[in-house]
Amino acid sequence: MTRAYIGLGSNLADPENQIRAALAELDNLAQTRRLRHSSLYRSPPLSGPGVPADQPDYLNAVAELDTGLGAPVLLRALQQLETTHQRQRGERWGPRTLDLDLLLYGDETIDLPQLTVPHPGLYERNFVLYPLAELWAGQTERLRIPGSGTLAELLADCPRGALEKLRECQ
Ligand code: AMP
Repeated sequence: MTRAYIGLGSNLADPENQIRAALAELDNLAQTRRLRHSSLYRSPPLSGPGVPADQPDYLNAVAELDTGLGAPVLLRALQQLETTHQRQRGERWGPRTLDLDLLLYGDETIDLPQLTVPHPGLYERNFVLYPLAELWAGQTERLRIPGSGTLAELLADCPRGALEKLRECQ
C-alpha cells in the first residue's frame, strides 16, 4: 500500500456536496482506503493571465489515502470521478464541478507525460498546503515533499492569504 494525498476542489453546482460525494467515492476506489480528510476551506479563484475572471470562490479539501493502485491507474480513476461529476473541461482554469489532483504518492517523484508528482502546484498553493498541514498538525516537519524539503518549509514560504477554513466535512 502507498500513502497518497488528493487535493479536491469545486466551485460549481453545490461545491460542498461535490466534495462530500467525492470523499465517499475515493473511499470506494478499488484497493483504496480513505484514512482521513481535512476540513473544508474557501479560496478565491487563482488569478493571472489567461484565468477567466468572475468565477465563484472554490471550496477545497485534502484527503489521505492508502492505495494499492499504481499512480497512473490512480490518476485515471480520479479522472473518471471528475467525469462522473460532469466536469466541463472546456476552459483551462475555468470553473469546475470537481477537480481532483494527485498531490503526493508515497515518497515518489513521477515524471510521465500525463502525470507529475509531486503535483506542480503543491509548492505554492495555500489551498493545498494548509489543509495538508491540518492533517499533519504539530508534525509538519515530518512530511517530506520529494525534491523540496518538508511541509513545514513550504508553509513558511506560503502565506495563508485569503484562504478561509470553514468547517469539518462530514
Ligand atoms: P487540471 O485541468 O488542472 O486538472 O489538469 C489536468 C491535467 O493535468 C491532466 O491532463 C493530467 O494528466 C495532468 N496532470 C499531471 N500531473 C497531475 C497530477 N499530479 N494530478 C492530476 N493531474 C495531473
